[in-house]
Amino acid sequence: MAVLTVQNITKKFPRVKALDNVSFEVPQGSVFGILGPNGSGKTTLLGIIMDVLKASEGQYLWNGEAGNAQQRRKVGTLLETPNFYHYLSAEKNLEIAAAIKGYPKDDIERVLKIVNLYERKDSSFSTFSLGMKQRLAIASTLLGNPSTLVFDEPTNGLDPAGIAEIRRLIKNLSEQGKTIIMASHILDEVEKVCSHVAILQKGVLKTSGTVSEVLANNEEDEQIIEISAANLDQLRELVTTFPGVNKISGNNGVLQIYCKNEITPESINRQCYSQNIILSHLSVRRKNLETRFLEITDENKPVL
Ligand code: ADP
Ligand code: MG
Repeated sequence: MAVLTVQNITKKFPRVKALDNVSFEVPQGSVFGILGPNGSGKTTLLGIIMDVLKASEGQYLWNGEAGNAQQRRKVGTLLETPNFYHYLSAEKNLEIAAAIKGYPKDDIERVLKIVNLYERKDSSFSTFSLGMKQRLAIASTLLGNPSTLVFDEPTNGLDPAGIAEIRRLIKNLSEQGKTIIMASHILDEVEKVCSHVAILQKGVLKTSGTVSEVLANNEEDEQIIEISAANLDQLRELVTTFPGVNKISGNNGVLQIYCKNEITPESINRQCYSQNIILSHLSVRRKNLETRFLEITDENKPVL
């Protein structure tokens, strides 16, 4: 059964429709990424499923039941940076969090160990790096051992090492069988840790499913060939004449050729050479979530 079912949720703010008829299901045990650029409605959606915000229309079910306080208690949430006391230790801060949430103190050692902060339990919060602060925040969500976790932009503002630590932590939690729902605008992060993804754009759900479904769900036999030459305009002009080329986009001096699989790099190289264009770069790229995401969310696709 789905851990979370979102059914036709719309959220209207006075000036903007933050969510427009959004529906999807989060399977048990998945790491479900809600992906979208800033302002696409991710935080609003998480706010609704955690009952911090009211939906204008639609409903959601936790484990098949309409959201209620008892259901929500089974969900650990990190929606915004929590207020920890700077002068208190990690352990003391969690004691306060546990007291507020009504969980026993003896769960604190367990959660500190999971986030790898047990050795630092007596250090004051103010001495922690951003990554450690975020791990302490995640520790707080683990109090009471909820089966589902909801994180909003869990790696926001962290350095690469901090991001890698959170990523490892999410993978560990997932391996322990927890269902994790996380919003992110970082494609790479979602592709590395998530099993499932929903892509939001301006409040509209563009697609959802397993990461591989979302990646595969495109013009079946399309590939991307990247090429570059000294005269990029001339190169672009030539490539547009090739049959089987669906789209060309370019950035940083490289053209991305979206084309049928039949087109080989050799044939492109040969044709360019015969037109006196010497390629300085030629590579075939597998589609990743980033290219797929750009395809899905690109309103004015640079089609031929
Ligand atoms: P994301 O988390 O994907 O960056 P948000 O859910 O924060 O997006 O915002 C979605 C849209 O809703 C944005 O246009 C934002 O300005 C608007 N919005 C969010 N919260 C409010 C609010 N409390 N009042 C009015 N508009 C809001
Ligand atoms: Mg947000």
